[in-house]
Amino acid sequence: MKTIKEIDFKGKKALVRVDFNVPMSDEMIISDDSRIKAAIPTITKIVNDGGSVILMSHRGRPKGAVNEALSLVHLVQHISDLLNMPVQFVDDCIGEKAEETASNLKDGEVLLLENLRFYNEETSGDIEFAKSLSKLGDIYVNDAFGTAHRAHASTAIVAQFFGENKCFGSVMTNEIVNIDKVLLDAKRPLTAIMGGAKVSSKITIISRLLDSVDNLIIGGGMTYTFVKAMGGNIGNSLVENDKLELALEIIKLAKEKNVSLLIPSDSVNGDSFSNEANILSSKIGEVQDGYLGLDIGQQTIELFSKTIENSATILWNGPMGVFEMDNFSVGTKAIAMSLVKATKNGAFTLVGGGDSVAAINKYNLSQKVSYVSTGGGAMLEYLEGKVLPGVAAIKE
Ligand code: AMP
Repeated sequence: MKTIKEIDFKGKKALVRVDFNVPMSDEMIISDDSRIKAAIPTITKIVNDGGSVILMSHRGRPKGAVNEALSLVHLVQHISDLLNMPVQFVDDCIGEKAEETASNLKDGEVLLLENLRFYNEETSGDIEFAKSLSKLGDIYVNDAFGTAHRAHASTAIVAQFFGENKCFGSVMTNEIVNIDKVLLDAKRPLTAIMGGAKVSSKITIISRLLDSVDNLIIGGGMTYTFVKAMGGNIGNSLVENDKLELALEIIKLAKEKNVSLLIPSDSVNGDSFSNEANILSSKIGEVQDGYLGLDIGQQTIELFSKTIENSATILWNGPMGVFEMDNFSVGTKAIAMSLVKATKNGAFTLVGGGDSVAAINKYNLSQKVSYVSTGGGAMLEYLEGKVLPGVAAIKE
């Protein structure tokens, strides 16, 4: 794996694909700059070497049209503040103006290009568009793990124009190294915690994990599909009726593969999908009529925590309940705390996938687990064993 550490950028122009797809308010205030902050070490390394940096990113879904609200010009000041140096901007990402500005860049300077997705050719992976981008730099650096599962012009196709002169940035390197710790080289026991809403969106990853984990913990909304499949009463809980067979298949496969499958034993139920709902707890297969399961119960928390705290490697994807509502966030918070405890005891803990990251951030615990993946969809596809085009393009 070729990383930026192995390259001396002195006198070179680095074309760096970053993920600056940050959320912004209507007043153009960045509400979460963690993706920009994540790219700072890569930019700083190139600048410190004496190279210049040409940053390219997408933001939002402009669908091939110029859209002022999604212009990257709104990010310039913030990047400049974080780097503590000026950042130049050009209102295009290819063509004469972009080429001229890039070629005039002096060593140590930083340039931001306009939103790549103002061209449809970016998402279609157009080779001519990729070639135009490639004219801007001498070395290609991919540091956008969040889009590594897409074969877009700037994330994968462009790499072919750089021969050996391409590498992963530090975000990409960290993501790959840390996910590989779970995939390839996990210390035992290895426990995966899968939560969130639906079995259907997690089925590929669950099947794949059954080949490698010692314990598979199921929580969140998908629990009730398993419980119904086993003949329990789930009241009005979330269920995927077309996935009942699949749930039974997972239970059978887990037995065959000697994986300890942990399904909640009790449930915290509300009489509506609301934080103000009346609450009743029950055994998992005895959800009261008119109620729906919205969190794991106390007995389950104890059972799951014990398994987590006895594990050496833990992967967590998806909340244990509707953690966005305070009255149903107890289970998710307890599991987060359990991960923190396991980390303190020396376990390697990886948290990834949209909502579990939101949960760990909500409780301010992201610094207390081993690694929080920024990847979302890319991380899930990597864990499913898929080849990510953005990774393959650099490894080739
Ligand atoms: P996912 O994107 O599949 O990880 O799902 C995350 C969502 O699942 C969150 O918004 C949670 O509120 C939701 N969720 C978790 N537990 C439940 C549940 N018991 N019933 C309904 N939704 C749930």
